[in-house]
Amino acid sequence: MATPLLSRARFLLSAATARDLPPDSTPEIAFAGRSNVGKSSAINALAGRKRLAFASKTPGRTQTVNFYDLDGAGRLADLPGYGFAAAPFSLRSTWDVLVGGYLASRASLAGIVWLMDARRPLTPVDRNFLSWLAPRRSPRLALLAKADKLTRAERSRTLAATRRALAATAFSGSVAMFSASSGEGVEETRALLEAWLRERAEACPGARE
Ligand code: GDP
Repeated sequence: MATPLLSRARFLLSAATARDLPPDSTPEIAFAGRSNVGKSSAINALAGRKRLAFASKTPGRTQTVNFYDLDGAGRLADLPGYGFAAAPFSLRSTWDVLVGGYLASRASLAGIVWLMDARRPLTPVDRNFLSWLAPRRSPRLALLAKADKLTRAERSRTLAATRRALAATAFSGSVAMFSASSGEGVEETRALLEAWLRERAEACPGARE
């Protein structure tokens, strides 16, 4: 069997401004979430690697979009985390310009993975992020990260409640439990992301670099 696409991920570049973004021509999957939600760990788990994406030591300070190339057939775009209360205004406005611009105009966006903490999904900053997603039609997946911190009963209760709450918003997409630690949801997420990339490549066959 061919090596799964996500496990072929290699660091490509970090973009601090829109000018630094790689050409908008290869299907991309963006990862978004509150600082410290477990986004780097999720990317590492999906790629089957330990230190592909590494956590910033000071949450909220990494204001770059980090790109990982999937053998030319796709990319992962790790967006800077949002909602870091102590971030100075200048950092927050950088986030708005960089991430807002990316989400609003990236033509090659094949899907968005949105991570929330399974212990407290849909915090006010998470709900605020929904408004950035609203204009996009790209497929989306909400992952409730660090699911290993909940009991089985809590997981099923939280999943149902979050699905209900999101159904009442503009969010249309799947919601799933995820844990980089226990591996819950990793295989299913990988399969979905690879399907998004395939569908996107089939829809725009000339898009491959
Ligand atoms: P990021 O800032 O969103 O990239 O978050 P990180 O991936 O750096 O994770 C933030 C913290 O959460 C770290 O201390 C991780 O060890 C921890 N963490 C990440 N994923 C999981 C998980 O699935 N389960 C548990 N229990 N902790 C996790």
